[in-house]
Amino acid sequence: MRYAPSDLPVFTLTTGPVDAYPAVLRGLASTVLYDYDPAFQATYQRVSEKLATVVKAQTMPVILQGEPVLGLEAAAASLIGADDVVLNLVNGVYSKGFEGWAARNGATILELAVPYDRVIDPAEVARVLTARPDITIVAACHHDTPSGTINPIAEIGAVVAAHGALFLVDAVSSFGGMMVDAASAQIDLLITGPNKCLGCPPGLSILGVSNRAWATMKANKLAPRGSILSILDWEDAWRADKPFPFTPSVAEINGLEAALDLYLAEGPEQVWARHALTAAACRAGLKAMGLAIWAAEESFASPTATAMRTPEGIDEAELRATVRARYGVVLSSGRGETLGKLTRIGHMGPTAQPLYAVVALTALAGALGALGHSVDVGAGVAAALAVIDAG
Ligand SMILES: *Cc1c(COP(=O)(O)O)cnc(C)c1O
Repeated sequence: MRYAPSDLPVFTLTTGPVDAYPAVLRGLASTVLYDYDPAFQATYQRVSEKLATVVKAQTMPVILQGEPVLGLEAAAASLIGADDVVLNLVNGVYSKGFEGWAARNGATILELAVPYDRVIDPAEVARVLTARPDITIVAACHHDTPSGTINPIAEIGAVVAAHGALFLVDAVSSFGGMMVDAASAQIDLLITGPNKCLGCPPGLSILGVSNRAWATMKANKLAPRGSILSILDWEDAWRADKPFPFTPSVAEINGLEAALDLYLAEGPEQVWARHALTAAACRAGLKAMGLAIWAAEESFASPTATAMRTPEGIDEAELRATVRARYGVVLSSGRGETLGKLTRIGHMGPTAQPLYAVVALTALAGALGALGHSVDVGAGVAAALAVIDAG
């Protein structure tokens, strides 16, 4: 049976790239202005000012012109100098992966690691910082997406601030889908992007920078300048009367403005609530079908993605391929260490709508049944609906 008039998916319920909001697509289709046209320079400043209201850093947000891996690599290269001692908090594939970028300028890298189905305990961070007063920078990933787990970032931020170290946080897949900003978590360098919970395509990095982080980057002789990796070059670029270091991604900026307008009009708390409700419905449905989430405890589970443990005897790639072929639903795999061990359902931006949890649950149930692992789809749907109706 063909479910669609083409080979395109019907539902993209992934953890990024995500389906973009229709208003974002219209924004992307706006006229591409010359970057030094006063109208575009005014747009860039306006977008930066709207971003500032949600990033809540001490200074104006910096936009870098490439998807968030650029922001992460630039952050490491700019903030971390040769003499730094970095404590990297590792509970998943992204936080572990940050180590390679952190080591680039020759800093000493220490690691506090927990299994990839758990989260970082702020008390452990405090213990390590007390034992190593020479630690200058602490790095964490708020939502380690390939595990679907959320670190208690504000509590960790308070511990880091008390120690006096700088706090660098990858908030790429949590920002815009739950409460997280530079002020509430005392983050000195927050890295995010519009291509997860803000519902834009990949193409930009967004950075929230504290006064101390600017001072540290400026003092770092190894911080990139005159480079695609430079943050310093972009410090004043938000101002309509200042030049860009190089051509910004004009269409992506227009798309971001549409996303921010949607986000602010709906209201961040309301947006976060529908992400949380979608995830809660999804977890309840999985549980009612006898399936397990990846997170060791439900309180660790993310509101912006649900990771389902692969049932015994099921090939995870075959499961996703079956979901895609039978129902036109696209889900995400694990990555690195979690590849093959879990399947992820994204609840990000436009797909953070509770009924999409029901779509994912029914598609998973159908595919699992086809692969010989029958589950009670009715119980799963009823459990999800109960959560949605109580929400
Ligand atoms: C998506 C994501 C990034 C950006 O990396 P991709 O190249 O888009 O995979 C970085 N960090 C986290 C935690 C992410 O979820």
